[in-house]
Amino acid sequence: MSSKWPENLGEAMIIKEKLLMGPGPSNCPPTVLKAAANPLLGHLHPDFCVIMDDVKAGIKHLFQTENELTIALCASGHAAMEATLVNVLEAGEKVVIARNGIWGDRAADIASRAGILVAMMNGNPGKSFSTEDIEEFLAKEKPKAFFITHGESSTGVLQNLKGIGSICRKYNCLFLVDSVAACGGVELKMDEWGIDVLYSGSQKVLSAPPGTAPISFSAQAREAIKNRKTAVQSYYLDVEILGRYWNVDNQPRFYHHTGAVTNIIALREALSFISSKTLEQSWKRHKNCQKKLHEGLKELGLELFVENEDDRLPCVTTIKVPGGVEWAKVTGLMMQNDTIEMAGGLGPTAGKCWRIGLMGYNCTEANVEKVLWSLKKALESVGYLSQ
Ligand code: PMP
Repeated sequence: MSSKWPENLGEAMIIKEKLLMGPGPSNCPPTVLKAAANPLLGHLHPDFCVIMDDVKAGIKHLFQTENELTIALCASGHAAMEATLVNVLEAGEKVVIARNGIWGDRAADIASRAGILVAMMNGNPGKSFSTEDIEEFLAKEKPKAFFITHGESSTGVLQNLKGIGSICRKYNCLFLVDSVAACGGVELKMDEWGIDVLYSGSQKVLSAPPGTAPISFSAQAREAIKNRKTAVQSYYLDVEILGRYWNVDNQPRFYHHTGAVTNIIALREALSFISSKTLEQSWKRHKNCQKKLHEGLKELGLELFVENEDDRLPCVTTIKVPGGVEWAKVTGLMMQNDTIEMAGGLGPTAGKCWRIGLMGYNCTEANVEKVLWSLKKALESVGYLSQ
């Protein structure tokens, strides 16, 4: 082993700004990046505790919930998915997972590793689930919980969640929702819609750096946790202990882990940024920008992957790659010439689609115009459009 440090570490990092118009992370507003440059605080210092309280209150509003156990995990969306499944379910218990893209697969993988029994409800990539199909499946399977993805970022599908909560109640089943790629950009009402566990991610519509994940548990979800026969297998993701660090139920703060102080400060600023407008205004802006983007794509002769208009997720648009066009060449040209990120497909859309994100700070008409302009030039360069 060499006694020398790698030479590269001695060189200054030069990070060129890019316009991140993929499915996340999205760019952070300058105020959020500036907030992240604040001096460090101790993870239990009183001034940091005030920041944690502000974050809790902000997430409650964002989720439209009164749930006491509403916190931010110091980890990404995957950890929130895992925290959701491993807290309310024990090994040997059954979860139904609605799968119409990669996130259903991921949830099933996480659940199976924890010994949770998975009944997969298979849908079509590119389509949302109907409440009738969900009811039929739950009646047959009688699971302890039902998991569904609000914004399927791998396929660009928006799931209508209204009405599912009451079906879950009818079958005595907890309603678990992944809203990593939708929350803040589309209507979402945790309490009104009867959602028992809801989580999101910091780096999408919230436009904060990746690494924190808002999450909330209803009273019923907490009851299920209380009645567990076994301890939650993951100490780090045990949300009841974690809640004590976040002063949930006014419990004295407890050292569970060293909070990601800088990321939580940035999240506080991102919540402040989004709070300058109402949630309804944010949902409307995402819808309007989506419309403008879709009209522009149509003008370029491109087709959308999701056929039904109501199933289209405003935050992530999936576009079919036309025959004869190399998808990676187009995204490469956009990055190389214009420093604009457009992503390729994922899971069922891999190799077949491009994905454009319209999220939070990045969701503006000007950015829609920029991405369309860059895409048009790239399509001309590869000979799909004439110059
Ligand atoms: N769920 C959905 C719907 C997502 O879009 C993502 C991120 N692309 C995740 C979960 C996982 O989040 P993270 O990458 O922050 O772990």
